[in-house]
Amino acid sequence: MNIIHWSDWRVPDGKPLDLSSLPTLPDPRSEAQNGLWPARMNALAVQLNGLQSMLYACKTRGLLLVLQGMDTAGKDGCIRSVFAHISPLGVRAEAFGVPQALEKRHDFLWRIHAKTPALGEMVIFNRSHYEDVLVPKVQGKINRPLCEERYHHIRHFESLLHDSGVSVVKCYLHISKDEQKKRLQARLDDPLKHWKVQASDFEDRQHWRQYMHAYESALQSTSSDESPWYVVPADSKAYRDLFVAELLVHTLQGLSLTLPSPPLDLAHFKLR
Ligand code: AMP
Ligand code: MG
Repeated sequence: MNIIHWSDWRVPDGKPLDLSSLPTLPDPRSEAQNGLWPARMNALAVQLNGLQSMLYACKTRGLLLVLQGMDTAGKDGCIRSVFAHISPLGVRAEAFGVPQALEKRHDFLWRIHAKTPALGEMVIFNRSHYEDVLVPKVQGKINRPLCEERYHHIRHFESLLHDSGVSVVKCYLHISKDEQKKRLQARLDDPLKHWKVQASDFEDRQHWRQYMHAYESALQSTSSDESPWYVVPADSKAYRDLFVAELLVHTLQGLSLTLPSPPLDLAHFKLR
């Protein structure tokens, strides 16, 4: 059963990307099957749980999921739903905010590298090293050559992770500006969500176009076979979660994990 055609949303390596031409809503083929989404999500949760246990047992591979997107794109919500049924022992989520004093005195990958998965682990980045080619670019704090240099470092960094056994999957959660307006308004209207409101959400919204251009440049410069970017239509929360779950299951299945053989001869153990 193929509900999500996720491979269609993979960013081609080095080709121009126009986010305004890509949908933020589910494609009609998937939408036509929306009655099947909840059952499919449950089936994926079971599969993901099994695959994560296998990853943890093998300790030969790691998985890094990078989530990027504008404020309210659903990075937190996606983590909550997709990993809801997985043992917290083998999964870690890391969020990256504005760099602190010590972080600013290091290269931009320093704080990121420290949080990457060990073999056997699955790690989700809620924002990432990509903030360093988005925010300073939009704010005019880095020029084009410096930005290109950072793309170069990012490609090598991700290649190092890949060569060390860590699969990197990157999802840009693509919401429309109208959808963001609704979600920001919902935060303003709901006292339980007031704690989430940040001035930067509203400032960044003013620079929507510049952010889209910065994302286009970053995604097309850093999508590769080893660590591809996917543009996830994210105006529908249920579809977004299904997309990411489907992609993770596919990626983990591709690792061909097998359980390690027991370190001891089990025939010795006789229970009385
Ligand atoms: P949030 O994820 O909404 O809690 O907010 C985190 C904030 O930190 C966002 O406004 C990000 O753009 C910002 N941020 C994260 N990493 C960086 C970075 N490397 N440089 C500048 N701002 C950043
Ligand atoms: Mg925010």
